[in-house]
Amino acid sequence: MRLSQLFTKTVKDAPAEETARSAQLLIRAGYIHKEMAGAYDYLPLGLLVLENIKAIVRTEMNKLGANEILMTSLQSEELWRQTDRWDDQKVDVWFKSALKNGTPVGFGWSHEEPIAVMMKNYISSYRDLPMALYQFQTKLRNELRAKSGIMRGREFLMKDLYAFSSTPEELQTFYDKVSDAYLRVFTKVGLGDDTYLTYASGGAFTQFSHEFQTVTAVGEDTIYVNRARKLGVNREVYTDEALTQLGLKREELEEVRAAEVGNIFNFGTTKSEQLGVYYTDQSGQQKPVYLSSYGIGISRLMGVIAEHYADAKGLVWPEAVAPAQVYLVRLGTQSEVINQADSLYHDLTQLGVPVLYDDRDARPGEKFADADLLGIPHRVVVSDKTAAAGTYEWKQRTAEKSELIHKNKLLKILAGSD
Ligand code: ATP
Ligand code: MG
Repeated sequence: MRLSQLFTKTVKDAPAEETARSAQLLIRAGYIHKEMAGAYDYLPLGLLVLENIKAIVRTEMNKLGANEILMTSLQSEELWRQTDRWDDQKVDVWFKSALKNGTPVGFGWSHEEPIAVMMKNYISSYRDLPMALYQFQTKLRNELRAKSGIMRGREFLMKDLYAFSSTPEELQTFYDKVSDAYLRVFTKVGLGDDTYLTYASGGAFTQFSHEFQTVTAVGEDTIYVNRARKLGVNREVYTDEALTQLGLKREELEEVRAAEVGNIFNFGTTKSEQLGVYYTDQSGQQKPVYLSSYGIGISRLMGVIAEHYADAKGLVWPEAVAPAQVYLVRLGTQSEVINQADSLYHDLTQLGVPVLYDDRDARPGEKFADADLLGIPHRVVVSDKTAAAGTYEWKQRTAEKSELIHKNKLLKILAGSD
């Protein structure tokens, strides 16, 4: 990616009303553009980060044996009436509209009801189960407040997974596997140390659901964590009765702010009974299907990572999600400098290392400031000095000083090869 050709631009100031630091940085670095409160456009570099996060999640979902689909945003009133979740009194985030003929439609804030009804067409016998489907889909929610940048959108990207099981045991086995997969996702994106499996209210059987909460000062939730056991409980579960049930002691819990990056939920057979999702078991009997649902806030996750990995100069992306691994700064227009920079760009690209090549006609200070603001993990500088010496000036984003190194060593560091 040559910066001279890439549609991107850093900007001096984020909109005055943008209060979230992560959103300010993402806007200034040219990753996102704000349409209105809670609605953001993803520009080329922002989209790359989002796609990197999706790829990590997709790998884990596929390992679970789940199949990827894509459902609609338009949803019919009727399905949600059947489970009593259409009324604004029951669900306070609905965006609703109507067809030309007056038929009400809702914009999907979640997909349990539509997918359960869809699956009535495809599940008839125990042989059709278990079955798990997931999607990356834009959810629409009329949130009361949207002051946390991409961490709370009125339009945001979610990965939602739905599992259909024939028995509670089968559901539980899958539920535990998803829980492990989620922890691997949060570790891979660099939030493993700070993300807690957290008990929340609302699941079938055990009465608990689980949230994945990342401890961060800008989180909107208050939770109580046991750092040694790497467990948390949310506010609803922070009662004497629930704590006793979980074997947790109040004095071992610490109150912290956190952002909910994922939520997994066991619906038992409630929804299937409301919506009529049944299967025939081995003895020919009709039984309700067990439903569980699993969400990860993909765009919220990007915001939390941006918030967590930042310093006074800008973003500091972990390699796993960074839009490029190398920011290649070319200083000067002498042919030796251009040749040295072009050849490194070529070699790294050949090796599959994504490079942002700053080949613009701009001042050195501007290029260095952009390299820091953009938060690309490695910075390599090519100048008349390096061209003459046959070396490269390399520095990691968080390092104080750069080092002069030869190409072989540089390629080894950046691509793990000579
Ligand atoms: P919250 O309590 O933060 O409003 P929720 O419990 O209503 O979230 P879920 O229905 O559990 O959200 O959605 C699954 C996941 O989607 C959440 O764990 C979160 O990561 C993400 N998410 C929910 N609402 C938003 C939003 N408005 N913007 C961005 N991500 C969101
Ligand atoms: Mg939730």
